[in-house]
Amino acid sequence: MVEITQIEAGPFDSNIFLVKDNGSAVLIDTGSGFYNKAVEESINRSLDGCKLMGIVLTHEHFDHSGGAKYLMEIFSLPLYCSPECARAMREADPNLTGSFLFGAHMEPIMDIEEIGPELKINGLEFDVHLTPGHAPGLVCLIERSGKHLFCGDLVFCDGGVGRWDLPGGDLSLLRESIERSRKWDVSSLYPGHGRYETKDPKGQIELANRMLSSF
Ligand SMILES: [Zn+2]
Repeated sequence: MVEITQIEAGPFDSNIFLVKDNGSAVLIDTGSGFYNKAVEESINRSLDGCKLMGIVLTHEHFDHSGGAKYLMEIFSLPLYCSPECARAMREADPNLTGSFLFGAHMEPIMDIEEIGPELKINGLEFDVHLTPGHAPGLVCLIERSGKHLFCGDLVFCDGGVGRWDLPGGDLSLLRESIERSRKWDVSSLYPGHGRYETKDPKGQIELANRMLSSF
């Protein structure tokens, strides 16, 4: 059975999730990189004998992706993300990654596996949906066996939606993406910030959608 562990992260970090199944593990998002050592130690404590096989980025924003280079190197891991996210990471684009907001400098990452509509890493399988609006490269990942949804900054629990005013953001695309997400069959919701929801994920998506309709 798939097990999901939240990795300890610092105040500027996105949520970081470790998805484990059958001895393999995948890391979803990396945080900003400001707390790399603590994140590395938390991953090591959480692996429980599983082998970490790769890092998947939900999107290119610095608070999700800034730790990728360090964690790729320290754990010898491939990096997976959408083609749009990969472009921003290769160029270390300060606008599209939002690193300028943090006064941070990103190093380009050239070696990236671009993902399509599905992603298979050992036994772990995800359906991948490109859901722009918050960021051009944002993907939602649905882990197939448990129907766990990792939605990055598309929606958050308790009525939150991703901001659309950053470079590459687009309100009408965000509306379309959230509209599509309402139809997904999911059992839990793991957003990029704040708490996660394992009881009524579709209710949380509806709440976010209602919130967005007021704009
Ligand atoms: Zn973001």
